[in-house]
Parts: sequence; structure tokens; C-alpha cells
Amino acid sequence: MKLKNLGIKTTNKILPWLLSVLALFITTTGVLAQNRLNIDEVKEGLHVITGPGGNIGVRLTSEGVILIDDKFPQDFEEIQSLVAQVSDLPVRYVINTHHHGDHSGSNAGFLQVAEVIAHKNARDNMIRGDQDGLPRMIYTNETSVFLGGVEVQAFYMGRGHTNGDSVVYFPDLKTVHGGDLLHGIAPFVDYGNGGSTRGWVGTMNNILSLDFDTAIPGHGSIMDRRDVVNFRNQMEAVRERMAGLIRNGLDADDAPERIKDSGLSWTQAEDGLFMQRSIPGFFDEISAEIE
Ligand SMILES: [Zn+2]
Repeated sequence: MKLKNLGIKTTNKILPWLLSVLALFITTTGVLAQNRLNIDEVKEGLHVITGPGGNIGVRLTSEGVILIDDKFPQDFEEIQSLVAQVSDLPVRYVINTHHHGDHSGSNAGFLQVAEVIAHKNARDNMIRGDQDGLPRMIYTNETSVFLGGVEVQAFYMGRGHTNGDSVVYFPDLKTVHGGDLLHGIAPFVDYGNGGSTRGWVGTMNNILSLDFDTAIPGHGSIMDRRDVVNFRNQMEAVRERMAGLIRNGLDADDAPERIKDSGLSWTQAEDGLFMQRSIPGFFDEISAEIE
């Protein structure tokens, strides 16, 4: 008994000490404070900030910086310091590709120093979700920011990931930022906020009508035009597969297992957002189309 008590006592003393040493280690080495996010050049004048949350497009101009998305609330300071690594000028505009908090989370911070722009439906979704940092500027069909001789265009091209996705186009660089209309692993259809795979196919075709060779997805690695075509093709293919299964009497409960197909990477990504969060709504969407 005595030994056991002593053991507990020792543990109680050692644990806080271990934690303080660990905290000192983290503080001095910056394990948590630094290198959580990274900035890389996509093309001259355009960078991407990667790391947890949606990919940020960083467009440099001679009169300031235009950001596409701004990750989570806690990222505001780190985004600002990464931008300062590539430009001496301040962020002047932020375009949100949609309302999700991993893409618009630092809006409240940036509204103190810049203008935030989003599609009307994205702002409405933010209001319904009781989110902070509502954009002060909205648009419905298309808009542009002109700054330092650079034009950055934002288009609403139809429903897809949500009902308020912006496709941001850098015409001089032949590059698009697709927000979560493009995803490196597997997409999420946010049916609760107007998402639609039927709409998404049309929206993808509209994106492909733009003259681009490079695309920044909401999550994942930089894409080329072929990757975007493949994404559109897989969207059509999963829709056809689900329709075929439903015509053969698929039960909703069996959909997550039966949808799996070795030729369709989204259905093979067990931890991906398509399999994790989109299948029940997808089943309902395709069922309603068939009826
Ligand atoms: Zn999203």
C-alpha cells in the first residue's frame, strides 16, 4: 500500500513537471506556433497558403493583395505573416468562395483591414449559420476586383458544393480557384445549404468553359485542366452509378456499401467527405430525379 501511494504521489509530481517541460519545448521550438500553414508560389503573382482549412489564393498586385478565402478564425495572424513574406503591401480584398467556416473563418479579422466579398447566397448561409464576419459586399452573377492593374473575376456558375459557390478566375494567369467545387480527394455535397450533384455537373462544365491551365482546389494539391475534367467525369459517373443501383431496387441503408466501385476513387476514400457525409442526401437526390 505504501509503495503504491508513493507511486501515485510521484506521478502527481512528475506529470505537471513533464507538461511544463513539454510546453517550454513547444514554445522555444515553435512546434505548434510555426509551420502549421505554408505558402508556395503557383505562378508569378499568385501564391497558395496550404495547411488545415481551405486553400487560400494570394494574388499580388502593385496596390495590395487579394485573398481568396481565409481559413479558420485562429489563422488570421499567421495568414497575415505569410502574406508579409511575399508582399510588403496589405491585404485589400478577400473573396470567400463559400460560407463554410474553414474558408471564411478569418473574415472578422480581415474586415478590420479589408473588404470581404461573397455570393449573396453564401452570405445568407452565413447569417443562417450565425457566423461571424459577414461580407460587406455581395454579388449575384459575376463581379470583379480591379487593383494595381490586375483583374480578379468571381462568377456564380450554378449550384454544386452549396448554393453559393464562387469560381474565382485570374484571367491573366489562366488560373481558377474553385473553392470546394474542386476537391483533391472526394467532394462534400452540402445538401443542407443547397448543394446539388445535378447542378454541380453543369457548374463544372461552366468552369471548363474558362480558358485556364491551372486550378486551385478548396482542399488538396494544385490541379491542371485534365484533373478538372476528371473531376467532372467522376461526378457524372457516381451519379450514373447511384441511378443504376436505385433502378435495381437499392435500399437507402445499403447505399454506402453498394456505391463503392474500384473505378471511382471518391467511393474508395472511406474517410473522405463523399463517403462520410454525402451519401444519404445523394441517395435522396438521385431517387427524386428518377421518380
Ligand atoms: Zn466547403
